[in-house]
Formats: sequence, structure tokens, C-alpha cells
Amino acid sequence: MQRLLLLQQLSTNPNFDVAIIGGGATGLGAAVEAALKGYRVVLLEAQDFAKGTSSRSTKLLHGGVRYLAQGNIALIYQALHERGVLLNNASHLAHPLSFIVPTYSWWDTMLYTVGLKIYDALAGASSLGPTHHLSSKLIKSRYTHLMAYGLKGGVQYWDAQFDDSRLAISLARTAQSLGARVINYCPVQSLNHQDGLVKGLNFQDALTQSNYTINAACVINATGVWVDDIRNMSPHSKNSSLVSASQGVHVVVDHLFWPYDEALLIPKTSDGRVLFVVPWMGHVILGTTDTPQSDLLLEPKPTLEDVQFILQQVAPYLNKAPRIQDIKSMWAGLRPLVQANSHQKTGATSQISREYFIGVDSSRLVTITGGKWTTYRVMAEDVIDRCIQEGFLPKPPQNKSTTHLHPIKGLSSDAPTPDRVRYAVQNEMALSVEDVLARRSLVLFLEAGLAIQLAPQVAQIMASEGIADPRLDEFVALAKKYMAEYLAG
Ligand SMILES: Cc1cc2nc3c(=O)[nH]c(=O)nc-3n(C[C@H](O)[C@H](O)[C@H](O)COP(=O)(O)OP(=O)(O)OC[C@H]3O[C@@H](n4cnc5c(N)ncnc54)[C@H](O)[C@@H]3O)c2cc1C
Repeated sequence: MQRLLLLQQLSTNPNFDVAIIGGGATGLGAAVEAALKGYRVVLLEAQDFAKGTSSRSTKLLHGGVRYLAQGNIALIYQALHERGVLLNNASHLAHPLSFIVPTYSWWDTMLYTVGLKIYDALAGASSLGPTHHLSSKLIKSRYTHLMAYGLKGGVQYWDAQFDDSRLAISLARTAQSLGARVINYCPVQSLNHQDGLVKGLNFQDALTQSNYTINAACVINATGVWVDDIRNMSPHSKNSSLVSASQGVHVVVDHLFWPYDEALLIPKTSDGRVLFVVPWMGHVILGTTDTPQSDLLLEPKPTLEDVQFILQQVAPYLNKAPRIQDIKSMWAGLRPLVQANSHQKTGATSQISREYFIGVDSSRLVTITGGKWTTYRVMAEDVIDRCIQEGFLPKPPQNKSTTHLHPIKGLSSDAPTPDRVRYAVQNEMALSVEDVLARRSLVLFLEAGLAIQLAPQVAQIMASEGIADPRLDEFVALAKKYMAEYLAG
């Protein structure tokens, strides 16, 4: 539906069952869940869909190998099941991916073989393939770019890879097709209360600065690392903080550094985590880091230390290690980590659980945050169930969630034109050059230099599609920050 028409409809009919704030994985998942249950749903995103953390992931659908060491079996089991659901429902955006774990001692070979066999067993019917021990001879002959010195063997196991920002756009379109009103560039500015209870919200269309009011039986705060800003809009808020953020950086290099279909898992970095070398769209992603971050920027900055850390950790495993000047793109994202106990601050964010949090405050504002992309669907199911249990929403005729059976939209078969750029404007709510080159086509995340080259042409096409100001200069300034040269400044 045309943006203007949609906004007009919101001003003439502002009454909804569910109003969702935030258009990342969590909010969009909740919109699909609620719409499929038959509720009247509106979702407001301040920027573009997935502009926050949801376009900055490692793009893995996984149980989380590192949780094995922590013994968090329930978390792995749930995520592996959800991995299978998404592979079924969005096969155009997700596919199985095999991983190699090189080992340099007999003990590690045994440990990882047994551990990863358990990991696969937890997937049950959703297993994507068996875990195998690989001999050092086989690894050396097949993966000639892997450092052979001291290699004792390895393990091959399966997880999956997906396209995070395109999944977000597809979820937005899926929610729309179910009748939800989903709109980007509409920041929520305040909540409306009656007798101390939240009854709706006020938002602004960032393009025209027009203001709108929405009335809703249930308001869901799904704003990731920014949930505390919305919680603190309540009159009785105690300005408490629920979330702490951890910054994760990725860098992208040419596929020649790791020219294989399988990903490489480096099982132990110097700070005791795992690090991935993942083939992705003809390139390779290296990452990630895990550093506490108190500045909740929309565009978090990779630091020279972050990037050097990644390259240093990868170097001992590759015969030809990438250098800073080999970086084609780099970016940072903020993990919303729910503080295990808000007064118990450990300072080490990697110790805080990746499980999600759903809470209802005294004004009846429902907040959901934490978790991971892989579990977005089950998080959505839980948050809508919670709204029903609290009595904010009437029980729907079809009470059980059906999102696990509902296909997620792909490219529209009635696309009026094969041009990518025009398609993104006409069908995917792209409003700026950044929307097209970052989250609709991923060029910015793959090759920032190429994105800068393409930008003027994209702006021209967008202008011919009626976008008066596609914000070309803003995009070029942003894209420069995705280039390695930026680290020097
Ligand atoms: C480095 C890194 C790697 C990761 N890798 C993986 C991975 O491989 N696999 C995996 O499963 N998970 C991964 N994750 C986790 C996953 O990306 C996140 O859990 C998920 O994207 C969080 O989604 P979200 O919707 O909660 O938050 P966000 O995506 O941040 O969405 C919140 C949205 O709220 C909007 N918002 C804020 N304020 C307002 C307002 N006032 N009005 C309207 N909207 C507002 C923001 O603009 C934003 O778009 C990774 C995370 C990081 C940081």
C-alpha cells in the first residue's frame, strides 16, 4: 500500500488492538504473529526496517555452539528447532551451511567431535546433516588455505545461514499481506496514558514532520537496545535500565582468503569466545567481537582495536591472512543483552544470557528484548501470548500460534519490473539510497566502495520513481565509514 494512503488511513482510523514499536526482527515477528491471530496491528519503525541490530548479525541460524560449553541445552534445543522452521518457511532467504572446526590436539579433536555430535542430536528431526570427524590428511588436502602446521584433525557439523535484512523486509511484507499496518521512518515520540495505563502512542512521519496518534489495547515495546528509552516514557518510570549493550564488529574480505563453501569456526579466541570465517555472497565475513558499549548509537563504529583483534585471531588459521587494506566493508552492531539482574552488573557482557526477556510494567507497557534472530518467531509467539494472558487482548478464535506453518513472503511474482531499485521502491518501502544499497540489496555490507560508485545511479532511478530526496550525500558519507580507510581517521 502507498505510504501516503497508509498514513491517511492511520489518521482516520487510529484504533488498533496491538501497536508495536520497533521494526527489527522482534517487532516484525510480533506483527506477523498478531496479524495471523486476527488482531488489528500497527507497527512503527523510527528508521528503516532492520536499520538497528537486525541487519548487523553474523547471518547464522544456529543453536549456538558456545552454549554447549555453558550447558545451556534448552536454549540450543529451541534455537535448532526454530532454525528448521525458518529453513522451511523462508527457503528463499536461508540455507544449510556446513562448518569446519580445525583441531590442534587429540583432546580437542575428541572434545569437539563428541560435543558437536550432541549438538546435532539436539536438533532431532531438524538435523541438517551428521557431524563427522575429519582426518588431518583430508583437511590438509581439501582446505589448502588452512594453516596446516600442528593440525591434528577437525570436525564438520551443520548449521544454517540467512539473509538478515532481507528477512526483515520479507516479514514486513508478510505482516502487511495479513492486514497489519507496517510503516518505516515513523519514530514514536511519546506514549498516551489514561489513569496511569498506556492507551496508545504518538508518532511523527519523519518525511513530512506530520504528527499522528494511535489508540491501542496493547502497546509492545520491541526497540532492541533502545527499549529503556520507551520504558522511560511512562509517567511512573523509575528510569531503571533493563538492557546493557555489547558491540559486535564484522569485517568482509574477498572470498580468495577462504574460497570454500564451508564456514570455518575458530573455537577459542584469546578472549575465550568463538569466531567465524563465513562465506557470504561471493565474499567472506569475519567476526565477531563482544565489547561492552554504553553509547547506543544507530551507527555504532568499529574501532581500530576491534578490527585488529579480528584479523589477529584469524591470522594463525590462514596461510594468507587478510590485512586491514583487504577489508571491503566493516560494520558494528549492538546486542541487546538483558541484565540478568539489573543490580548485578558483572561488566563482562559475554556472561549475560542471550535468552530473551518479556516484561509488563505498572502502566501495562509490554517490553520484549534480548534473544537472537534465530528465535525471533518463538519470541513473537510468547509476547502475544503474554498480552492475551494479561487480559490486554481478547482470546482469539485460533489461540494456537500458526506462524511455524506460515510461509514468509519472497519477491512478488507480480513485480512490475525486473529492475531492483524500482522494485525496492514500489514493493519494499525503500525511501532512500541507503535503504536500497544497504538493506534491500546488501551492497553496502559487501563492498562499501562499490556502493559509493552505484549510489548516484540509484538516486537517479529513485528520483524518477517520485522520491524527491533519496539522501544521496548522506549515504556517501555513511558508506565511507564502512571502508577501512575510515579507521585511519
Ligand atoms: C554482532 C552481532 C551478531 C549477531 N549474530 C547473530 C546471528 O548470527 N544469528 C542470530 O540468530 N542472532 C544474531 N545476533 C542477534 C540478533 O541480531 C538480534 O538479537 C536481533 O537482531 C535483535 O532484534 P530487535 O528487533 O530486538 O532489535 P533491532 O533490530 O535493533 O530493532 C529495534 C528497532 O527499534 C527501532 N526503534 C528504536 N526506537 C524507536 C522509536 N522511538 N520508535 C520506533 N522505532 C524505534 C530501531 O530503529 C530498530 O530498528 C547478532 C547480534 C549482533 C549485534
